[in-house]
Amino acid sequence: MPHDCFADEIAIDFPSVELAVERMRDAFLGECEDDVLRREVLVSRREAWDGLVVPIEVPLRGLCRHCGGRGETWAELCTDCRGSGTWLQHHSVRVTLPPGVADGARIRFRVSSPGADSVRVEIRIAITNRVIE
Ligand SMILES: [Zn+2]
Repeated sequence: MPHDCFADEIAIDFPSVELAVERMRDAFLGECEDDVLRREVLVSRREAWDGLVVPIEVPLRGLCRHCGGRGETWAELCTDCRGSGTWLQHHSVRVTLPPGVADGARIRFRVSSPGADSVRVEIRIAITNRVIE
């Protein structure tokens, strides 16, 4: 199911407007299943209880500034992007998990950077009994 937020309210109170609400939610939240970067974060029970900050690597892609996305300058391959017209960079994001975070909880956010396409990220919390180093 693409959207779990508000899902209960719609099913119970407004069954006939479900489709319209889903579209509005898409427009409002910008949610779309296709281009969401999903990551599962394993945390111990102790970490889930205390809350913690987890680093997430998010790949950001943007147009090459050297060639403007053409992949070449004059007749030569662009040296900055090697002809791809884009650049790819791994951006480190620190996500704060609140104390008492539940197993299966999802955290959604968007990462954007000047000159890059923004990336939607969904993190799913998985609590494990295993000790994590
Ligand atoms: Zn280039």
